[in-house]
Amino acid sequence: MNELYQPIETLPGVGEKRAQKYRKMGIATPYDLLMHFPRTYIDFTAPVMIADAENGEPVAVRVTVKQKLSPSFVKRGFSLYRVVVTDGVTEFLLVFYNTPYTYQAMKNGEEYYAYGKLSGGFLRREMQAPQVQRVDQALLLLPFYPQTTGLTSAMMRTNVLKALSYLDSQPFETLPAEMREGYQLVALVQALHDVHRPESKEALAEARHRLAFEELLQFQLGTLMMKHRANVQTASAMRRADLSDFYAGLPFSLTNAQQHAIDIICRDLCADKPMNRLLQGDVGSGKTILAFLAMIMAFENGWQSAIMVPTEVLAEQHFASLTALLESSGIEDACPVLLRGSCTAREKREIYEKIASGEAKMIVGTHALIQEAVTYPNLGLVITDEQHRFGVRQRMTLAGKGYPPNVLVMSATPIPRTLAMILYGDLDISVLDDMPRNRLPIRNCVVGTSYRETAYRFMEKQIEDGHQVYIICPMVEPNEEIPCENVTEYCQKIRKRFDAAIRVEALHGQMKPQQKQEIMNAFAAGEIQILVSTTVVEVGVNVPNATVMMIENAERFGLAQLHQLRGRVGRGSAQSYCIFMQGDGKKETSKRLEILNESNDGFYIAEQDLKLRGPGDLFGVRQSGIAVFQIADIYRDSAILKAASRAVNDLLSMDPELALPQNRELKKALDQYISRSEIASEFPG
Ligand code: ADP
Ligand code: MG
Repeated sequence: MNELYQPIETLPGVGEKRAQKYRKMGIATPYDLLMHFPRTYIDFTAPVMIADAENGEPVAVRVTVKQKLSPSFVKRGFSLYRVVVTDGVTEFLLVFYNTPYTYQAMKNGEEYYAYGKLSGGFLRREMQAPQVQRVDQALLLLPFYPQTTGLTSAMMRTNVLKALSYLDSQPFETLPAEMREGYQLVALVQALHDVHRPESKEALAEARHRLAFEELLQFQLGTLMMKHRANVQTASAMRRADLSDFYAGLPFSLTNAQQHAIDIICRDLCADKPMNRLLQGDVGSGKTILAFLAMIMAFENGWQSAIMVPTEVLAEQHFASLTALLESSGIEDACPVLLRGSCTAREKREIYEKIASGEAKMIVGTHALIQEAVTYPNLGLVITDEQHRFGVRQRMTLAGKGYPPNVLVMSATPIPRTLAMILYGDLDISVLDDMPRNRLPIRNCVVGTSYRETAYRFMEKQIEDGHQVYIICPMVEPNEEIPCENVTEYCQKIRKRFDAAIRVEALHGQMKPQQKQEIMNAFAAGEIQILVSTTVVEVGVNVPNATVMMIENAERFGLAQLHQLRGRVGRGSAQSYCIFMQGDGKKETSKRLEILNESNDGFYIAEQDLKLRGPGDLFGVRQSGIAVFQIADIYRDSAILKAASRAVNDLLSMDPELALPQNRELKKALDQYISRSEIASEFPG
């Protein structure tokens, strides 16, 4: 059992280099590795006959090798490896590019499974860059893991297999037997085996069910323990500050929903119980200004306040708008500071000093805010923006730095209310249910890749009118396992396509923070016309002059995430457009994307998403809008969420401190879960 918790490099087959890459992903031990679940699986359980398969769609086939053609070197750095195979009826080719290893390992007369897209057909059809497994060693559901550069799923499968062998000798179970029986959950050891090496879809479904149940259970336990803590604390109430001067100074008047929400926030702050409020509002509904007003109120009462956001780009942007607001409101002595992970040690020390001396009254930052070294002498208000990116742990830590811990959590993920009440059981909920009036609804379209050129011409016109464009790609770099658009190549490609006067730049999470910042600043200043980016721009970025959002491989994103991305446009008074580029021809995808086409209302979309997904949706796109979950998906697993909620209530009514012997392992796992959710904040973006 102990082997499970040793450093990851003690696992045979993991050297120092690989260990480093694992650590970057938050995987420090074999146990962490086992808790790092596959992102998706290739299904080899029902191979098709080539004669029945259509070109363009990826399919799984079972074949025998007839002949290996000799490699051809097309040009420098580009070689072709072809193998003639047959499925018993039809002969065709497997074609590999620059990957001699698979080709070399294949033997005449042996049987293989292959998975890939078909093309051609005049003489012989071809399967391009297929995934191949020998039949006698095959995993019928082949797992693929969320990745980091330099770590392939094949490597991870080998390492996981070894880590799984550590489980065999030990009884290892976190959930009490009674709960497992009551909710029909398979044992943990079995679930871990089956999620990494499922032998059937049924086994995988049961494993997922068990692991999702446990994850949702732990999340709720963690949340309720926070609530318990918050309830026993008393806050020293603020007196109500008069904010009407500030309303007058704003370039717009607050919407009714904003006015209502800020009134409630002020009431909370003036109560003698700490505020614990979730402010939910669709993208663009104007949450930021409310956060700033609450911070001003804290300031007027002599308190420090901090706002924590998930990305540096967003932190910088908030800091700039806060500074501007303070200036226009004539507040001079708030001394706002910006604290980021990328600050130099010296900058950090200076900022810590200002915070610790109480000079800095307003602090904007990323999760650098919750580092040990930062002490806040009188933190009265803590705000987290786009909270779904933060785990339970971070909320606890930041709130723990305040006396009293007034907490305002802002989220643009429009979760259906029934689910929100379970997920945020510790919070009161306010909803911003109207939009600033100067907005035109975004015009949407869902199109196939043949429409790309038309889209580019449309962008040219918008750019001529002085507007700007976002293009989103799912990946940073090309990846053989995942055939989809990537920022690096896409940016090169369209630089050639567009006039040289149109500046095209790339933005992604692997760039240095300073580089990212420069690009974002230049885009905000209108110096860049087309920004090709990953989802790093998803969260909160505000450039009102951008009017076109085009999302490549829209099928690879969850609806909530697509809605978030779309929210980057339509922020000013000009008409905005969102183009969802569908990279697969699947009907289910079109149906899903059609929902976005129909409506710009995040809550409507969330409800529809809930209806579309069911427990059977094993391979579906994960709703990555709520990144704190490894395996659970509150949409697909809403029934599990509710079951786990019942289990939590039963559990805590019997044993509020989880002190009974049968709950000891669960308590341990909960502590681990809470500390892991902190690591999970190193979102790659
Ligand atoms: P979100 O809720 O997505 O965080 P923001 O707070 O970024 O939205 O607001 C989006 C844009 O709307 C900003 O440019 C902001 O200045 C503007 N805005 C906020 N409230 C109003 C309002 N009442 N009237 C007009 N514009 C507003
Ligand atoms: Mg926002």
